[in-house]
Parts: sequence; C-alpha cells; structure tokens
Amino acid sequence: MMERVQLTDDLSFSRVIHGCWRLADWGYSAEQLLSLIEFCFERGITTFDHADIYGNYTCEARFGDALALKPSLRGQIEIVTKCGIKLPSKYGMKLYDTSKDHIIASVEQSLRNFRTDYIDVLLIHRPDPFMNPEEVAEAFLKLRQDGKVRYFGVSNFKRSQLSMLESYLPFPLVTNQIEVSAYRLENIGDGTVDLCLEKRMPPMVWSPLAGGAVFSAEDDRAVRLRAALEQVRQELGAKTIDEVLYAWLLVHPARMMPIVGSGKRERIDLAVRALTLSLSREQWFAVLQSSMGHDVP
Ligand code: NAP
Repeated sequence: MMERVQLTDDLSFSRVIHGCWRLADWGYSAEQLLSLIEFCFERGITTFDHADIYGNYTCEARFGDALALKPSLRGQIEIVTKCGIKLPSKYGMKLYDTSKDHIIASVEQSLRNFRTDYIDVLLIHRPDPFMNPEEVAEAFLKLRQDGKVRYFGVSNFKRSQLSMLESYLPFPLVTNQIEVSAYRLENIGDGTVDLCLEKRMPPMVWSPLAGGAVFSAEDDRAVRLRAALEQVRQELGAKTIDEVLYAWLLVHPARMMPIVGSGKRERIDLAVRALTLSLSREQWFAVLQSSMGHDVP
C-alpha cells in the first residue's frame, strides 16, 4: 500500500509522484499512455506532475487524450500543473508572466487540454522577478471561487520568495516543488528545505536522479557519489543505486515526494521499491559527504 502525504484536510498525494515533463519523448499512443497511468495507479501512484509548457505545450493534451479513454480515472488521481513561463515558440521570446490574466488563461487552457473541469494543485513554475503578488492572489482567489483549481503552490521558490507571496494570500500554499538529489544539494543547504519543515509543507522533489546525470556524468562529484551509492546498495541488498538515490530522499524528515521522470515501467518500480529501504544515519551521511567531497565540519 503506497504511503500518502496529507497536504490539507481533503488533499493527499501519493508519496511517489509521476512526472510528465519528458512524456512527448516517450512516443506513446493514447492507449499506451493510459496503460502507463494504470500501471502507476496499480502501484498507488495517483499524483501526476505537469506544466503548461511541457513538450512545447503538448504534454497536457496527450495526457488528457489518454484520460478520455477511461474517464473514471480522473476522480481517482491528482493532477498538478504549472504556469508562469512563456516560451519563444508561442510568445517570440522566453519570459515569465504571473499576471492575473495570464494565470487564468493558462489554467483555462490546461483544463481544456486535460479535458477536466478542475486542477488539483496549480504551481507558479518559477519565481518571477516582475511578479505582482496582489495579482497572483486575485487570480488564485478567482480560480478557487470558480472551482477551477482546488489548491495552490509554487516551484523553485527560495524561502523569501515563498514567504513574500504567501503573505498576500488568504490561504497557505500547499507545496514547493524543488530540485533535490544526492547530486544537487543546494536546496538542502540554503534554507529552502528548512522552510518546508518550518511550515509543515511537504516538498515535491524534481529530478530525484539529477535527470540521469548521476549515472552518466564524469565529474568528480558524480564519480565519488556512484561509489558511495554502490557501497550502500550492497549494504542494503538493493538491486540498483537508483533505489538508494530515492531512499536517500524518502528517509529525510521533510517528507519529500520524489517525482519519477521516467516513462519506463521498471524504473517507476524502482522508486516504489525504495519505500521499503531504510537508510541509517551513517549511510545517509556517507552519501551526503561523497557528494560534497568532504566531511561535514
Ligand atoms: P529524474 O528521474 O531525475 O531523471 C529522469 C531521467 O533520468 C530520464 O531521462 C531517465 O531516462 C534517466 N534515468 C533514470 N534512471 C536511469 C538510469 N538508471 N540510468 C540512466 N538514466 C536514467 O527526473 P526528471 O525527469 O529530471 O524530473 C522528474 C519530474 O520532475 C519531471 O517529469 C517533471 O514533472 C518535474 N520537473 C519539474 C521541474 C520544475 O522546474 N518544477 C524541472 C524539471 C522536472 P529514461 O527516460 O530513459 O528512463
């Protein structure tokens, strides 16, 4: 039974989330994608992460096409999507837009793409240096009042950015989606994860395997990390170092929810299996220190 993470009284996510950023690369038909969604669902993965821009604005609609083949699934899963980034293909240049009009228009397009009438959680994709938090608050309130979005969060926000935005909202944000892996430690060290703990706000964690870099990069950090992961893998009797990478996140007290980025069934299963692994404090620090390249002070 997949563990669930309670974000509000009436919203919970599966501890392991499936991410759809790379969906357009998988080349699945709607039937094949539905089969993958059902594969996740059978393992208790009910939360799916999207963004308006994924696949150059195509991934949400592909997912919607798959869901349309089995409409009963919609009420049994949680759809997370994002807005706030504009791409050159559609807007002539890359920029951020967190204006009220853009947030609302983006959600309305997402609803059409998913062929649903509500989004479970909407995230502002990246902190916008030109953000007017009053407009974001107005957009969020309208979307909630209209029943189009249930809850709101942010992504890639540092602690001051998150606190600032939240100070304009009449309700708390439910999550911050941030990059964390044993290979990329910035958010653990700079107060971003601390704020999640302080607010009892479980973070969604993107690129839990560093986008595959842990397996392929040849820099010193990656080489050291692979050796430490292999050592812990042997100690735990795990099959792959992938599981150790997931377990390293899952044992952290912040209740991190890793987003699996692969469309391959065996790789999704590795993340689910990692839930049964329990790294000791010594193993957790061995992985951390291998990545840092030195002992803690
Ligand atoms: P990830 O799981 O760290 O990386 C997935 C990549 O690693 C895939 O290309 C996968 O290849 C490869 N990989 C996995 N296991 C491997 C192995 N054993 N050996 C070699 N390569 C391996 O996650 P991610 O895709 O970067 O991110 C996950 C999700 O986070 C995305 O889908 C998206 O939903 C979200 N995200 C959010 C943001 C944001 O700004 N909020 C940014 C990036 C991502 P295969 O496809 O061949 O399995």
